[in-house]
Amino acid sequence: MLLRYPYFTNDIGGDQPWHSMKLIAPYCDFLCAGCQNRHLGQAELKDFSPESLKGIYESLAPFVEGVTIGGLEVNFCDFGWLQDLLSFINGAKSPKLLIYTRQSDWSELSESLQYTLEALSELPTLEFLAVKYGRYLADRPKRIETFIPEADATPWSLSLASDNQFLKIYKSPCPGTHITKLPWQSH
Ligand code: SF4
Repeated sequence: MLLRYPYFTNDIGGDQPWHSMKLIAPYCDFLCAGCQNRHLGQAELKDFSPESLKGIYESLAPFVEGVTIGGLEVNFCDFGWLQDLLSFINGAKSPKLLIYTRQSDWSELSESLQYTLEALSELPTLEFLAVKYGRYLADRPKRIETFIPEADATPWSLSLASDNQFLKIYKSPCPGTHITKLPWQSH
């Protein structure tokens, strides 16, 4: 499973309220205007087995509650790469997985990625699976998605970098609901 290296940073909060192991997909065509990730395309490419990634994940525990796939474009990853991701998440028993893609039209997602997302959503240990999708636009405000647990637990939020981006939720521990807020609606 090729990844850009070394980006195993423990992503603290920021766009999501949990610490996560961040994995950078290997490729992109860098066609988004205002792309801020071009430097990632220069980073070293390294091949990791699902087992070695699981070892790294466990070494980050207990601070890490999830995995985030982003940086470059996951929709360019082939079926073998996606199957390794499935195997890693299954082995690591990571409870949360967040994936970024710049595709705005869901039908543009590869069949391999759509198939893998369905398979990931079937993993019993995965509590939360969502895809942030849509092309980043530098001059747009953020979109905030707030999740409201059924019990009296505190609501939590995910933020999307621009308001033309959306969240597709495959699995959530908040069967109640989530609400979308744009910045001017947050007060
Ligand atoms: S998908 Fe990400 S890395 Fe690729 S061009 Fe767009 S912003 Fe840059």
